[in-house]
Amino acid sequence: LSLSDMVEARSICVCVRKRPLNSKEVTKNDIDVVSIPGNGTLLLHEPKQKVDLTKYLDNQVFHFDYSFDESSTNDLVYRFTAKPLVQTIFDGGVATCFAYGQTGSGKTHTMGGDFSGKSQNNAKGIYAMAAQDVFALLKQRRYSGLDLCPYVTFFEIYNSKVFDLLNKKAKLRVLEDEKQQVQVVGLQEMYVSCAEDVIKMIEMGSACRTSGQTSANANSSRSHAVLQVILRRRNQVHGKFSLVDLAGNERGIDVRSSDRQTLVETAEINRSLLALKECIRSLGMDSHHIPFRMSKLTQVLRDSFIGENSRTCMIAMVSPGMSSCDSTVNTLRYHVINFWS
Ligand code: ADP
Ligand code: MG
Repeated sequence: LSLSDMVEARSICVCVRKRPLNSKEVTKNDIDVVSIPGNGTLLLHEPKQKVDLTKYLDNQVFHFDYSFDESSTNDLVYRFTAKPLVQTIFDGGVATCFAYGQTGSGKTHTMGGDFSGKSQNNAKGIYAMAAQDVFALLKQRRYSGLDLCPYVTFFEIYNSKVFDLLNKKAKLRVLEDEKQQVQVVGLQEMYVSCAEDVIKMIEMGSACRTSGQTSANANSSRSHAVLQVILRRRNQVHGKFSLVDLAGNERGIDVRSSDRQTLVETAEINRSLLALKECIRSLGMDSHHIPFRMSKLTQVLRDSFIGENSRTCMIAMVSPGMSSCDSTVNTLRYHVINFWS
């Protein structure tokens, strides 16, 4: 399979979503440097300076399968990204959806939704919409005879350590057996009987994720959160959907003024995002070597990178402001260079 075949077959789908300028950015007179003309394209107007110090805007084009502008809703984004993947797990496959981007770009808004009450639009996220669709399909006649049972896990990977968000952040060990099957030992797998059950788990886990956190150490943005919906059939895994809210990939962390913990975290995040890129690249490429041991993240998601029936969707989130330009370029390049060339 060549990469273009994979795109045809939609085993990998790469999209981008731009959020609106927020009130803080507007107050600071930040300028919107991202435009979405449609058709999967994104234009970045990056301010640059010539040697004679005259300023100009360097316009760069980036291509994606889909691009969503600031007026698009979670519902629209879901329909073109994760929704087609729900079918995959009913057909016995492994589906994975990643939200990628710097802190504040909208990953959690897109995945988990916005129930803070602060925003007017109590927007459901991809987690909840996927859960609803899973239960809708379970009721369909062609699947109701299969005796599929849905379970949920929700965990966080921080500094290469796995914590169970459905069990008071218990620290868990990851083991690999001789057949390279990876197991997170003791991870709570909760049976769910309706979409509301899943939403309750998400709320419980998200509260667990942010507890014990100071603003100086907002480590929810420094960790990867993984929600999995697992369909079991006679106790065997039939299909698995992993929805991943990745750690922020921000640029411009000042090495001199950062403390040791921040530097260790940053190095760890970079390492796992690099590993993820390599694993996605090897997906479907007739490659027998999947470098999943490069990081804990890719190790626990090993199933996502193998098998005949794996489908992955990556949603790159970008902030529109000029002040975020370095991180935005970083986010856009992660996809363009690495998946398509
Ligand atoms: P991240 O998880 O990437 O750090 P968040 O999802 O927490 O970022 O988003 C940061 C802030 O921006 C939140 O207050 C969120 O509600 C808001 N936000 C993000 N995306 C959008 C959007 N598409 N429309 C409106 N508000 C958004
Ligand atoms: Mg977040």
